[in-house]
Amino acid sequence: MKDEFEHIRELMVSNQIARRGVDAPRVLEAMRSVPRHRFVPSESQNYAYDDFPIPIGQGQTISQPYIVALMTQLLQLEGDEKVLEIGTGSGYQAAILASLAKTVHTVEMLPELSERADKILAELGFSNIHMHIGDGSLGWPKAAPYHGILVTAAAPKLPQALLDQLSENGKLVIPVGDRGSQVLQVWERVQAGFNHEDIIPVAFVPLRGESGWHDGDW
Ligand code: SAH
Repeated sequence: MKDEFEHIRELMVSNQIARRGVDAPRVLEAMRSVPRHRFVPSESQNYAYDDFPIPIGQGQTISQPYIVALMTQLLQLEGDEKVLEIGTGSGYQAAILASLAKTVHTVEMLPELSERADKILAELGFSNIHMHIGDGSLGWPKAAPYHGILVTAAAPKLPQALLDQLSENGKLVIPVGDRGSQVLQVWERVQAGFNHEDIIPVAFVPLRGESGWHDGDW
């Protein structure tokens, strides 16, 4: 996409993302093409490509660009997949996923954020994203199974419903932990059950809902 931020977006990709080891060409291309500044509040547009998360209202944040790229790369998308995102927020991560997979379902608990994201994604011409409002800690069973599930809020423990909604060889990328320490985990459904790997320490806002954090605990 051509816009006045094209150059600064290229710098974001080379300095923050490729330099830290994200090297999948399709992921880098998606990060180069999606106009991240459109997903942040207008007063924050000048920071849109900086190396940190940005508040998007209602106590929520759009993740740091590197974390978006890393989580996306961990799903190893080839183009034909159906993917589920939990925590639509600004809609930016959904746009990146929609550039790399066939279909994206994204679930957000806060209607106002979902509606704002929907509007921007439509303006940008994305037509393969299905927006849902509800408790994503239970996944989105109606459209299951998914080749990939990406959770953009920290869960207290792995929600079983999300594992259940993975297809064969499907991957779940999810931060697990509390306010003080979280680990980004990848789970893959294999014939014998599930493989799991810890990737890096991360800092996300809490996943709420039935299998998430409850008021008072975080
Ligand atoms: N992926 C987003 C980042 C969102 S921050 C982006 O690219 O901008 C995490 C989001 O998860 C918040 O918007 C929060 O409201 C949402 N959330 C928290 N718990 C949830 C739940 N149980 N179901 C759906 N969304 C949830």
